[in-house]
Amino acid sequence: MKLTFWGAAKQVTGSMHMLTLDNGYKILVDCGMNYEQKREMNEDAFDFPFNPAELDLVILTHAHIDHSGNIPTLVNRGYKGQIICTEPTLELSKHLLFDSANIQLNEFKYLYNRAPKHRKAHVPRPIYLEREVGVAMDRVVTLPFNRKFKVQEDISIELIEAGHLLGAASVVVEYTLNGKTTRVGFSGDLGRDHAELIRTPTPMQNLDYLISETTYGGRKHTSSELAEQDLLKYIDEAIVKVRGKLIIPAFSVGRTQSIVHVLCKLAKKGLLPQVKVFVDSPLAIKSTHVYSKHPELLNNEAAAFLKQHGDLFDFEGLKWIDNLDRHEQVANYTDSCIIISAAGMVEGGRIQEHVKNNIQNPFSTILIAGFCAEGTLGHRLLSGQGVIGIKGKDYKVYSKIARTDVFSSHPDKDEIFRYIKLCSNPNLKRIFLVHGDEPNLIAMQDMLAQEGINHVEIPDMGDEFLIA
Ligand SMILES: [Zn+2]
Repeated sequence: MKLTFWGAAKQVTGSMHMLTLDNGYKILVDCGMNYEQKREMNEDAFDFPFNPAELDLVILTHAHIDHSGNIPTLVNRGYKGQIICTEPTLELSKHLLFDSANIQLNEFKYLYNRAPKHRKAHVPRPIYLEREVGVAMDRVVTLPFNRKFKVQEDISIELIEAGHLLGAASVVVEYTLNGKTTRVGFSGDLGRDHAELIRTPTPMQNLDYLISETTYGGRKHTSSELAEQDLLKYIDEAIVKVRGKLIIPAFSVGRTQSIVHVLCKLAKKGLLPQVKVFVDSPLAIKSTHVYSKHPELLNNEAAAFLKQHGDLFDFEGLKWIDNLDRHEQVANYTDSCIIISAAGMVEGGRIQEHVKNNIQNPFSTILIAGFCAEGTLGHRLLSGQGVIGIKGKDYKVYSKIARTDVFSSHPDKDEIFRYIKLCSNPNLKRIFLVHGDEPNLIAMQDMLAQEGINHVEIPDMGDEFLIA
């Protein structure tokens, strides 16, 4: 069989791996948007490096756009088959993809209306609209975790809990030819040990080949177990000491739920000061409902908390902000408060306004709680510049800019290393490291080599490997 890396190779986004079995059956694992190659935003330039009509099956590991974002286009360009994922992944993907279609349409309208007449035809069109998302989501078939599903007589797939995000799965493809069975495991994005709400990743067993994510292959994070103390430290500095504001940019799906749950735990312990906590994101509200709908996927600690308190995300002072009028009220709120809003990299969305309103206030703290890609406003804030341009206007930075990695949804180098070792067995022939930039991939390759694990490849975009 053949393994081809069409995305997230020597980079983080755009996950898309193809497994071609000896009988010609083609499986695509993930079909994500590639943020490191902006040309995809221009529909005319976008194309798949293969014919979507030739695929037999698509498996989606989890809902994040860098794994799911090109599925509507794949269907639109001729993919005829089914898409397999877990139920929470379907529910979260719907919210994320409809949101993405909306953002694209609004961006297009904004640029189109401002473009001079002769440039209007060149304004990049949305890659897909809501209608296409709907068509693609109708193709989804959901599977529970840990149940082998026969796709054909000699091919089966199984979804294994990957942590990372509610419903996130690793995928094992099992193929039998002439009595010989080969198992290929795709980790998908992994979660951390002791993450909030969801369980630690379950290692895949009896693999012949492993494709593993390596986002932080060279980095060490603060232990997830310190999330309460860590957040409390920033609350103490920003709220208790100076009665200021704590602004937390956070991804609406996953990160926001973790942060709100930690705040909820602090509140139930009587450790949260009496301030309003605003969650200003309609997408976060919808995603939180999905989390609440799936208590069976909670880790033991969260399940016990739910049993004791009846809710994971509810405490006095917490306000979910949906409509724009309420958003404006929050933007104009002058008292000390905590605001959690999206987008996580501060590149757009309601958080930009909160950052803009607070950046010149020495009593405000902007706490970056996630990865910020180069070129994003979040990245510029972290770079320590004294003046920051937001939407064409310059602002002097007087607020505190802080960063925490305690809420990272990806494992650090020790956690990845441990996971890979737990997936290893004497029959494991090769490991492929993906979903990381080169320094992180090489760091993990070196770490594994020091343990005598040498059959580790770092594939490049478009690389094809004959396996089994
Ligand atoms: Zn992810």
